[in-house]
Amino acid sequence: MPPVVREEPARDQAPGVSVAVLRELQSLQGTGDQILDALVPRARLLQLEAGQQLLRRGEPNLRVYIVVSGLLRVELDDSPLAHIERGETVGELSLLAGSAATATVAAEERTQLLVLDEETFWWLAESSHEFSVGLLVRLAKRLRSNNDAVQENIALRRQFEQAALSDPLTGFRNRRWLDQTLPRIIQRHLHASEPLCIAMMDIDHFKQVNDAYGHAAGDAVLLQVGRLVRANLRPADFAARVGGEEFVLVFPQTSMPGAISAAERLREAIAGAAFDYDGGALPQVTVSLGLVELERSANPLELLARADGALYAAKQSGRNRTEWPGRDGSGPKLNPDR
Ligand code: GH3
Ligand code: MG
Ligand code: MG
Repeated sequence: MPPVVREEPARDQAPGVSVAVLRELQSLQGTGDQILDALVPRARLLQLEAGQQLLRRGEPNLRVYIVVSGLLRVELDDSPLAHIERGETVGELSLLAGSAATATVAAEERTQLLVLDEETFWWLAESSHEFSVGLLVRLAKRLRSNNDAVQENIALRRQFEQAALSDPLTGFRNRRWLDQTLPRIIQRHLHASEPLCIAMMDIDHFKQVNDAYGHAAGDAVLLQVGRLVRANLRPADFAARVGGEEFVLVFPQTSMPGAISAAERLREAIAGAAFDYDGGALPQVTVSLGLVELERSANPLELLARADGALYAAKQSGRNRTEWPGRDGSGPKLNPDR
């Protein structure tokens, strides 16, 4: 990073500063010649070469600069944010707020600046009504564009967050979302002493679909299963795709009998649906589900592990089936591989 430019000591009258030059500058427009005459000995010129920094983010600033020629670049974290052109000012925000510079400003090309120190700046603001009004207008515009940028940032961040927490194929929430959200859902239910059930659902013999019809057909099946999940869950329920063909279903404020009928309804809907890919029919698709209810001492990992155990039992019992602890009077067989 190039060093912040060292300024030469102030001179009484820097060469090149003349009333004619000042009158041309947009930020001094309307300011009377008498004031400009008085400004000439107070202001001085500073020249920056391309790449040289004028202000550095986080560092104090006690001057206002007006671009006489050339172009300044405002940057945040090394990415260009805006340009400051001839006649425009920079530095007034940090000077007025008495705070450090909020962005780094560097010369895009060789740039000449009129330097107003704090005292000169205030003298000018008091002497020239036009300068003060212009300053207010510029500040208002900058505030406005900052607000717009903040809004855009918020929208963008939401999009990124959404993308990071959802599965691009099915649009379902993903494992990361579940890891973030399930602990809170559990806490809420434990706190309110309300029942909560979750199910682990896995497509049966999914590998065979891929092997026989290709990966794209497998993706089409995943999409159609996703649609059936959406269509058959109640609005209050959640689903997340947590692995290749594995989904976690969350049934809030639901105890075992309600969750069993919800899981069975979904399982039957999938088993009864016609699947197709690229205009051709595919064989019947079925799913197995392992269902568990939240217990007093439950933590998310333990709850998911129990659901996984019940799913394993459903697979062992022949697939296309919902299994839960206590079904048929026995607990689920534990999956030794998981
Ligand atoms: P089981 O009934 O025991 O669940 O058998 P299975 O064949 O479904 O299970 P297995 O775990 O052996 O295979 C899962 C397959 O899912 C393997 C992998 O190729 C496939 N798969 C995982 N993610 C995707 C995906 O995003 N798209 C497609 N098309 N296939 C996927
Ligand atoms: Mg699987
Ligand atoms: Mg499977």
